[in-house]
Amino acid sequence: MPTAYQSIDIPFEFRHTCWFCGEPYYESYSFMASPNYDEQKLPIMVPCCEECYRICQPIKVSGLDLLRDKVKEKLHRKYEKHLQIGANWTKEELEDSEFEGKALEGFRESAWAMFEIAKERVNYSGWPLTIDGLPVVGLTSSFQVEFNGIAYTSLVQAVEQLAKVYNIPQAYLEDVVETVGRHRLAYAIRFAKTTYGYSAEEREASIASLKAMLAEESVLATEESKSAKGIEVAISEIQELILSRTMVSPYAVQWVLRKGISTLGQLAEHEDDFLESFMQESELVAFTYFNGMQVYLEKREKDNEWAMNGDPNRALFARLG
Ligand SMILES: [Zn+2]
Repeated sequence: MPTAYQSIDIPFEFRHTCWFCGEPYYESYSFMASPNYDEQKLPIMVPCCEECYRICQPIKVSGLDLLRDKVKEKLHRKYEKHLQIGANWTKEELEDSEFEGKALEGFRESAWAMFEIAKERVNYSGWPLTIDGLPVVGLTSSFQVEFNGIAYTSLVQAVEQLAKVYNIPQAYLEDVVETVGRHRLAYAIRFAKTTYGYSAEEREASIASLKAMLAEESVLATEESKSAKGIEVAISEIQELILSRTMVSPYAVQWVLRKGISTLGQLAEHEDDFLESFMQESELVAFTYFNGMQVYLEKREKDNEWAMNGDPNRALFARLG
């Protein structure tokens, strides 16, 4: 007899687990898309904990990923206070705090645990969905945003929740995020939090100054990349040299020219990058090359006369501009 539903595959280690939040299994929710764009024929059974099972009941969506997002959003709202504990306290602060009275002591003892449970549930990403070994198509979590270790289903949801956490008017936080870009959520929140006053005029003035700040920042960034513009030079064009009994490798010189590096300070900024590039050969090679480069650039900085007229590679460094 054919079954009247499909069940998602459940890996052994997840056989008693809610797919949405990782809590213990209670019952499977039978999901039917509505509206049914993909012409789903049979209900799909998704394992749930008791709470997520109940949350699922009234939700009408066209796909399992949307169902997951709706469940997460509901959990976020329901455990808003618990999730805020992590934004307002650190674990150590809570432990050291001197709450007096029974109720407050109880809060101190359970608060961090409540925060961690709520956080794990909203962050839980389930296991990859397959039915009879075939992936369920069209499932996406690409709209997810993370802030302070907590996952949000979308930027819109993140802004909505974070505005509450940090007491920022939501419309204002939206404007700030739009101005700085979605990838700089932390910056947006820092800025919005320290804004002086939230009246319409004050907000407008803040956004204007934010725009000015960002414009300045982008000018600086282009200047920086201009000075860091490197040149590509063949090994045969580079002279090997020995300074203070230290060998300066043409390969190291080629590398710094490529990065547009001509000062000790710039070399220091690229130290990790430099070492990593030569680490494939060996650690000794990487450190020897780096040391040689330090000696070389220091000599160029201290002995201007030599840098201009004596350095056999002076023409190459001159090209860095
Ligand atoms: Zn659940």
